[in-house]
Amino acid sequence: IAYFGAGPASLPTAVLEEAAASLLNHLNTGLGIAEHSHRSALANDVLRDTTNRLKELLEVPEGYSVIFMQGGGTTQFSAVPYNLFSHFAKRVLTEENNDIEKTKARLQKAKAEYVLTGGWSSKACTEAKRLVGEEKVQVIANAKDVNGGKWGDIPAAESWNLVKEGEGESVYTYYCDNETVDGVEFTGVPQVPEGRYVVADMSSNILSRKVDVSKFALIYAGAQKNVGTAGLTILIIRDDILQTQCNDTELRSLGLPLPPIMLHYPTLTANNSLYNTLPIFEVYICGLVMKKLLETGGLGAMQASADRKASKIYALLDKYENLFKVVPKKAVRSRMNICFRIEGEGLEGKFVKGGEERGLLGLKGHRSVGGIRISNYNSITEEQVDKLTAYIEEFAKSATA
Ligand code: PLP
Repeated sequence: IAYFGAGPASLPTAVLEEAAASLLNHLNTGLGIAEHSHRSALANDVLRDTTNRLKELLEVPEGYSVIFMQGGGTTQFSAVPYNLFSHFAKRVLTEENNDIEKTKARLQKAKAEYVLTGGWSSKACTEAKRLVGEEKVQVIANAKDVNGGKWGDIPAAESWNLVKEGEGESVYTYYCDNETVDGVEFTGVPQVPEGRYVVADMSSNILSRKVDVSKFALIYAGAQKNVGTAGLTILIIRDDILQTQCNDTELRSLGLPLPPIMLHYPTLTANNSLYNTLPIFEVYICGLVMKKLLETGGLGAMQASADRKASKIYALLDKYENLFKVVPKKAVRSRMNICFRIEGEGLEGKFVKGGEERGLLGLKGHRSVGGIRISNYNSITEEQVDKLTAYIEEFAKSATA
């Protein structure tokens, strides 16, 4: 079976075999890994190893911390505004010598900046508006505005309507690096003015290419696509955000929302991600995947492989462009989620069914948009892609005959 679903995604067989053995009896302790205490030395080893592997893979510079959380990517849609507004307000408070009124005045004109490129960034933006108020969120770019009312493009960073000096201040600049449903991906880190707090959702493309972490205030990713199983979210966060936060009294005085304790980043780091019971089995699986990535050439190798696999598929879709209509514009096509429509009555259903008959599963597009989506995550092998492209070609020939 080759599974091209968008997440949860398939995992390397060797990883699953090792994890299965550990679930029964971890390191000959007679207990499975999911049965050991999350506060045991053994769990601590898992956390440490996984953190170190992540840091090695992404070459995380000094001054950043790794947090493991639950609640998926969606929970970060809420956690980000809570923590980043609190950090911003504390900085302003300090600059204003703890003058609440002066801080309030600056806060009133401060905004979180959101770039909308698809369903996930839109959801994140909607949640930020709900938590901190519409007036504190500025949509600085909306792909629909430059693409005839549809997703499928990424407005160039030079065109973003950033909060202007003199008019207000930027609290953070948020974008989604790869829109899983809509198949668009940033080609690199967008150029924003120095000093911006850039926050990126990398849920569906983390560990698929090198990233200059130093450009970010925060990167987060749900684990279940490129790294592991559902139930774990990985955060890489700059330490100043953890160190500088309003206390509850200050937040109340400033009219800012108090984060639920499980979303309060400083509490989580102060407890080594163990403020409550962390699913160590999930961390262990991520650690195994990361170990394998390190052994097979790291992110350079992953990037080359992802490019090769995606190029093969797109080349074929372009070859039969009268039949296959790739959803996004060429320049922003995702390497991870290849989204297209098939022209012709009933052909998409036929394509999915034919795939299933050949052991090529998970080809159906997201329920909100339909169409076809091929997810090309790290665990997809070149052989699986070859099997898929052979099927696409066969399908195209018979459909156009
Ligand atoms: N962000 C992106 C880019 C996603 O693809 C997803 C889920 O597919 C989410 C956020 C939401 O993640 P979760 O379902 O883990 O909450």
